[in-house]
Amino acid sequence: MHPELAADLAHLPALLEETRRQAVAFLAGLADRPVVPRHPDPPAPAQPLPEEGEGLRAALAAFGERWQPRLSAGAGPRYFGFVTGGATPAALAGDWLTSTADQNSNSSLDPAGQHLEAETVGWLRDLFGLSPVHDGTFVSGATMSNTVGLAIAREWLGERLGVDVAEDGAAALGRVRVLSGSAHSSVSKALSVLGLGRRALTAVPTLPGREAVDVAALERALAEAEGPCVVVANAGTVNTVDFDDLSAIAALRDRHDFWLHVDAAFGAFAALVPEHAGLVAGLDLADSVCVDLHKWLNVPYDSAVQFTRRRDLQAKVFRNAAAYLGPLGEHPDLVHLTPENSHRLRALAAWFTLRAYGRAGHREIVERCVTGARALGEAVDATDGLRLLAPVRLNVVCFTLAEDPTPERLAALAAEVSDEAFLTPTRYGGQAALRAAFSNWRTTDADVRRTATALSGAVRKLAPN
Ligand SMILES: *Cc1c(COP(=O)(O)O)cnc(C)c1O
Repeated sequence: MHPELAADLAHLPALLEETRRQAVAFLAGLADRPVVPRHPDPPAPAQPLPEEGEGLRAALAAFGERWQPRLSAGAGPRYFGFVTGGATPAALAGDWLTSTADQNSNSSLDPAGQHLEAETVGWLRDLFGLSPVHDGTFVSGATMSNTVGLAIAREWLGERLGVDVAEDGAAALGRVRVLSGSAHSSVSKALSVLGLGRRALTAVPTLPGREAVDVAALERALAEAEGPCVVVANAGTVNTVDFDDLSAIAALRDRHDFWLHVDAAFGAFAALVPEHAGLVAGLDLADSVCVDLHKWLNVPYDSAVQFTRRRDLQAKVFRNAAAYLGPLGEHPDLVHLTPENSHRLRALAAWFTLRAYGRAGHREIVERCVTGARALGEAVDATDGLRLLAPVRLNVVCFTLAEDPTPERLAALAAEVSDEAFLTPTRYGGQAALRAAFSNWRTTDADVRRTATALSGAVRKLAPN
């Protein structure tokens, strides 16, 4: 054994203790470090690959000096960019133990990991009000979940048209139509990956002043399409957290032939709170559902789940035949269900946080995020120089400058507050805008006040006079 490896093995408990101390110090500073430090460039000069390493202790020190100070407080309470969750204490512990056990949980030859994933999927199904007709699989994120859902949809189109896509390829389908109101960008990416092409996506008009699809317009588009289609319904859009009417869309299947995929990446969490659960009524009627877990469940990156009623088609797409893997059977191993063959025991962090805090604990996180978003929305509305662009429907505040809202001025505003709060740019209703998305378990009223104060100070500083 290489001497550095042998030395680290000999001192493993002390080294892990030191790593733990560094982690604890990082977490302790999370609320107070600049939310996004202003180090746009990597540290120069880039270091060459060491020929001789110096062991874990030296690597810890080098990381602590060179890289850790540049990391954002992405796990902290005022990182409102994109839709970003943190890691609950139990999720973090589960993630540490995932690496500790280092399982490749994909086959019944070594089944415990698969069984743990199945238990976790059952809990998630319950959490989101899905019935047992939905099977679930862990994947790395909502983009992958959408990709897997649309891959199953692609196979279903083949079934309807009497062609075998898994064997003969997507070209056998001819032109494919994917209809959606306000699809997330990852849907186009998925269509490109799947050989259906980004142009397969047809935007359907939304309701006036909304991001929710106009169901009557969707029905017209379905009537005009020849043959079976795919509909991507959106449950929680990233700009204004708008929801398509899932029950009404599902009801169109009485008259039209389509696969219903629902992108509920973070919107599915509305199901946890009785006051908001109506927003995702009908979710169970979908053929496939995407839910992200590294957003509002607050497990570390990377984690999402993909639900579907047609596990048979899923296994047809992702079947990984090999002599040592055996037949698929009624409950195919995970190796036959996603683009990945080997993968980490990703379910464990979700298992830990659900076991530790239960439905009520996670409901409280969702409720507090919604309360925080509403409070920031009210503060923005009350701030001279800022203008809300949409009502705060759930957990995102979408706003702009009242005067001269150019992307440059909005970028300057975001930069001005970036030590205190991280906001990301968007366009909404033809306007350049900023978004603040609430999905971190640490965010409190005090964080909202701090963010509102930073914003109003920055607006005054930016004023043209
Ligand atoms: C975040 C998000 C995605 C993509 O998720 P990743 O986890 O970044 O892959 C897809 N759809 C919606 C609605 C999202 O919010």
